[in-house]
Amino acid sequence: MNFNIESPTSKEELLNCLRNHQSGYFRLAAGFTDLLIELKKSKTEELTVINLSQIKDKQFTGIDIQPSGIRIGALVNVAQIGKNQSIRKSFPVLQQAADALASGQIREVATIGGNICQASPSGDLSCALVALKASCEILKMDGTIRHESLNDFFRGPAVTSLQKNEVLKSIVIPANQTNKLKSGFIKIGKRSAMECSIVSISYHFQLGADAAILHSGIAIGAVAPTVIFCREAADFLHKLNVNKIHETDQLKVAELIQQSASPIDDQRASAWYRNEVLFNSAKSIFEQD
Ligand SMILES: Cc1cc2nc3c(=O)[nH]c(=O)nc-3n(C[C@H](O)[C@H](O)[C@H](O)COP(=O)(O)OP(=O)(O)OC[C@H]3O[C@@H](n4cnc5c(N)ncnc54)[C@H](O)[C@@H]3O)c2cc1C
Repeated sequence: MNFNIESPTSKEELLNCLRNHQSGYFRLAAGFTDLLIELKKSKTEELTVINLSQIKDKQFTGIDIQPSGIRIGALVNVAQIGKNQSIRKSFPVLQQAADALASGQIREVATIGGNICQASPSGDLSCALVALKASCEILKMDGTIRHESLNDFFRGPAVTSLQKNEVLKSIVIPANQTNKLKSGFIKIGKRSAMECSIVSISYHFQLGADAAILHSGIAIGAVAPTVIFCREAADFLHKLNVNKIHETDQLKVAELIQQSASPIDDQRASAWYRNEVLFNSAKSIFEQD
């Protein structure tokens, strides 16, 4: 593996790098935890890596809390997300997904932007963020910003809408409409750490005074070509009391979630096993505290 590396330290330097390399082959990198593995297998001779990790611009590196929501820079690492008090309080599903990703060492370097742009169907943060109805802020080479929902950003396994002249700058999560929440991340893997999911489920329910579900998001990972938002299951739960969901309704939700999936056999698990685990994990949402 042989490559040139360029490390812009500001947005302007990054834009220049992008302009200079449009006619050649280059890759963007942040924490390198996915990219290095890919490059080791690659036979490409002429490659430039644009290393984003030295960019100091707060829009890439900060967590900014606004009344309308929270903006997380693409270069924020997974450990920072797990430790952030506002995320813990308002978006437990994201904090739990961050804490479940890989190991402590990897979490210190792996970034939220890298997790999203890798577009793995088993990406833990991607799954939580789709349930939270997050959107992407994408910096274009001419300095303008394009906005897109994360759900639309994912186009297939390892495929996103990102063009060669674009970089993911930040992710925006809309503010909760209510203070009462039921929010969590369920991850099933072969081991409890350093393991990509066999199945994952993210759920984020915003509750009214009587524990009625007023706004809900559910997403599933590792059971389809991309992370999937389970719209029908989320709609079905509207106005139900989260603490008193009848067993037949719990089964209905699990069925609707299962119907959103299209798992395949791979080295980690069979499609049949994924379907079974998905159904049982979906039922267990209502047993979690
Ligand atoms: C041992 C191990 C265990 C792992 N366990 C898990 C796990 O449990 N759960 C999980 O979800 N993942 C896991 N991963 C995968 C990986 O750590 C995460 O996907 C991580 O968040 C990637 O972030 P990164 O900054 O290292 O990305 P990089 O490797 O730097 O980049 C990944 C991809 O994103 C692109 N990219 C990065 N940043 C940007 C940007 N701002 N704009 C545009 N493109 C960009 C790169 O070009 C590349 O294609 C594991 C990896 C390893 C090596």
